[in-house]
Amino acid sequence: MTEVGSKKRYQVVIVGGGPVGAALAVELGQRGIACALIERRREPQRIPKGQNLTQRSVEHFYFWGVADALRTARILPPSYPMSGIVAYRDLNSEYWAAPPLREIVNPYYFQHNERLPQYQAEYVLRARLAQIENVETRFGWAAESITQNDAGVEIAIVEDGGPGREIVQADYVVGCDGGHSMVREQAGIARDGADFAQLMVLALFRSRELHEGLKRFPPRSTYRVIHPDLKGYWQFFGRVDVGESWFFHSPVPANTTRDNYDFHALLEKAAGFPFACDFDCVGFWDLRIAIAETYRAGRIFIAGDAAHSHPPYGAYGLNNGLDDVANLGWKLAATLQGWGGDTLLATYSEERRPIFKETAEDFIEAGIRRDREFLRRHSPERDKVEFARAWQDHANSVATNVLTYEPHYEGSPIVFGPPGGKSSAKGAHTFEARAGHHLPPQLLSSGRNVFEELGSAFTLLAFGVDDAAAASFAQTGKTLGVPLKIVRDSYEARRRDYNAKFILVRPDRYIAWRADAPPADAAAVLNKAIART
Ligand SMILES: Cc1cc2nc3c(=O)[nH]c(=O)nc-3n(C[C@H](O)[C@H](O)[C@H](O)COP(=O)(O)OP(=O)(O)OC[C@H]3O[C@@H](n4cnc5c(N)ncnc54)[C@H](O)[C@@H]3O)c2cc1C
Repeated sequence: MTEVGSKKRYQVVIVGGGPVGAALAVELGQRGIACALIERRREPQRIPKGQNLTQRSVEHFYFWGVADALRTARILPPSYPMSGIVAYRDLNSEYWAAPPLREIVNPYYFQHNERLPQYQAEYVLRARLAQIENVETRFGWAAESITQNDAGVEIAIVEDGGPGREIVQADYVVGCDGGHSMVREQAGIARDGADFAQLMVLALFRSRELHEGLKRFPPRSTYRVIHPDLKGYWQFFGRVDVGESWFFHSPVPANTTRDNYDFHALLEKAAGFPFACDFDCVGFWDLRIAIAETYRAGRIFIAGDAAHSHPPYGAYGLNNGLDDVANLGWKLAATLQGWGGDTLLATYSEERRPIFKETAEDFIEAGIRRDREFLRRHSPERDKVEFARAWQDHANSVATNVLTYEPHYEGSPIVFGPPGGKSSAKGAHTFEARAGHHLPPQLLSSGRNVFEELGSAFTLLAFGVDDAAAASFAQTGKTLGVPLKIVRDSYEARRRDYNAKFILVRPDRYIAWRADAPPADAAAVLNKAIART
């Protein structure tokens, strides 16, 4: 941070310190970037949403130095299964299933998935931020307005409930300020997406009787009800702990308020049995998908729910936001440190937006349509035997979604993807190293995982490669000013899973290039990977 006249100047100002903004501050701070994080709330909002973290999200926490702290912050016992029950009509139904969920792709990632309330993850990130000197946190401050010109951005900030008012300056600003993003609106970025015109309730309550009533099922963290009357929208119970605290969301009529509706009766109908409960809080949200038309306007970027928001079906929201952070963080740092540039920054929106668009259309909207169609076509009242068979197939189809959700950047201008490659949320899980895809885990002959050896910027994995080829690549990195770590090992049978001797890994652990022979022009490979012509 520098002082320009009476104004403080940072390299990056982050507006919104929810999970995505706090994570970006850690990512940039660790990369040595001077940042300010402006967050209206003094404490994280204690709503137990954003619970279901993917393997990839936990990998980010590992590289932020807090994967162990994250797992320690879990509220459910470590052994408690994270996946859920799905039931037809209510939780007392004879038709239910306990299909496997995200854990089935654990072997393809360096870290296993995790489950904890979002506020717990936010506390972990805030504790990490307190250790990073070059990040200044302003909890209890709100951003009011933003202006930009060729030289930078100016952000007017005000102390929440206090007299403080300041103008801060930065090279770039990133709006991580949630679905109602002021940053997005002031940048003039429009949104589109599907509005299901459906009001949803989110209730937090405590009930030991509900816990007792669900003992007929194997232990699970969530309970999803699909009902023919609800057009494919879910009723969803989630455990916050074992035995007492719950959250619940469900469609409700459009005119519902806290005072004109019997939420206890709604819970009992979804459960299929009576139980006593105490409500802690009731709130509402609209079932809609919204995607910003671009994630960047000049020096202004948006990430997380500010860029894309949708119903919590499939738990894609926070996880996608954390992937925005990993993608944007290194590109901003590279540009501010002089080895990236404007074309590299442009690839943030180019890479991330198609992933979310497909996630919304082909996983979230398609999932709602699939449930709706199932409920329309099959009914135990019409044909019990046919329904029982169709029910099992339908419940198991969730696992297919997990297997095919493999976001990749094959069509990105900064990866050596296949001819005609297209960036997509859909792919396949494999141990082969593919350009544009996430690096699969792999043990080195030292016994350490390759992820434990990665550098903080680019890494070249060089397996069974002679000294001259590795040294030449390293020298090219030096000449171009691109931070590059070379990790060498022999090319043994177990590593043939990668099916490549040279793998260039980006700072976000995606593969930019892979080959079996040294490149004719290593500079051309590195230049393309950082969008330098
Ligand atoms: C019931 C429910 C369950 C969910 N479950 C999952 C799940 O299992 N997995 C998953 O991946 N996602 C889930 N989600 C979605 C997830 O919660 C969101 O995607 C996530 O909160 C997005 O984080 P964010 O930091 O982008 O935005 P937010 O969490 O909305 O944070 C934005 C922050 O910006 C601050 N802010 C706003 N304006 C200003 C301003 N002008 N100045 C300063 N600060 C400002 C706010 O105070 C807030 O702290 C769920 C959502 C719901 C509602």
